[in-house]
Amino acid sequence: MLKGKTALVTGSTSGIGQGVAEALAARGANVILNGFGPADEVERLRAKIASEHGVEARYAAADMSEPEAIESMMRRAIGEFGAVDVLVNNAGIQFVSPIEDFPAGKWDAIIAINLTAAFHTIRHAVAPMKQRRWGRIINIASAHALVASPFKSAYVAAKHGIAGLTKTVALEVAEHGITVNAICPGYVLTPLVEKQIPDTAKARGITAEQVVNDVLLAAQPTKQFVTVNQVAATAVFLASEDAASLTGVILPIDGGWTAH
Ligand code: NAD
Repeated sequence: MLKGKTALVTGSTSGIGQGVAEALAARGANVILNGFGPADEVERLRAKIASEHGVEARYAAADMSEPEAIESMMRRAIGEFGAVDVLVNNAGIQFVSPIEDFPAGKWDAIIAINLTAAFHTIRHAVAPMKQRRWGRIINIASAHALVASPFKSAYVAAKHGIAGLTKTVALEVAEHGITVNAICPGYVLTPLVEKQIPDTAKARGITAEQVVNDVLLAAQPTKQFVTVNQVAATAVFLASEDAASLTGVILPIDGGWTAH
């Protein structure tokens, strides 16, 4: 389905991004991985994807908080493959704190990685997509692109920003065979969520178990975590020909959370 196409997934050394990269490779796409992690583990993942799926798999170490690093990653990818046909903006971090104590440096980092990085990858990706008259831009936003939760000011602001960026670029490139959509997962049990459980417990003065049951899963009517595979399968669909008319959509996969 995606044979001959190239997908770049930011933040794909862990969690959702890794699942999306593997699912796109399983459909035949060459993949460029990105994200942090021990060099030997990243290399193992890269080699496994290449050999299991018979695709080209590369790794770009670019830090998504650095516009120059993003530019050189995109230039190299486009130089080697002609275009990034499927761009998945997924890299993200979280920090949980009451607004009055929220460290300014954390605000800046979250806006840079969760929002501004997507501006930079998209602005470099679009011209070659236009030349090929085909492209898929998939932004991994969050239910927090649609609703807020206390103590997550920077994250909620960045994710609402991604929703606006998604809709705007979708309108700009719609006549060029390029779609732009945002997937908005509810809670997925990845390292990003595991790490925020103790901080949320501290901010709310409750136990870690109470955070899972009374805060995280309380928001999701299904009372189930969303799975990485469910998010990855949605990204695969958005990358398909069948999704050619689906653009500018802010799509929740949240067990009904934002239906409230
Ligand atoms: P994760 O912590 O498992 O993975 C995050 C990835 O981003 C890792 O590969 C990490 O190395 C990379 N990353 C972080 N900072 C980076 C930087 N400066 N430069 C390059 N890469 C960087 O988290 P996850 O849960 O898989 O989250 C992935 C995306 O999904 C994020 O945008 C997150 O906001 C979003 N999301 C997650 C959930 C959830 O419940 N887990 C829900 C909704 C949305």
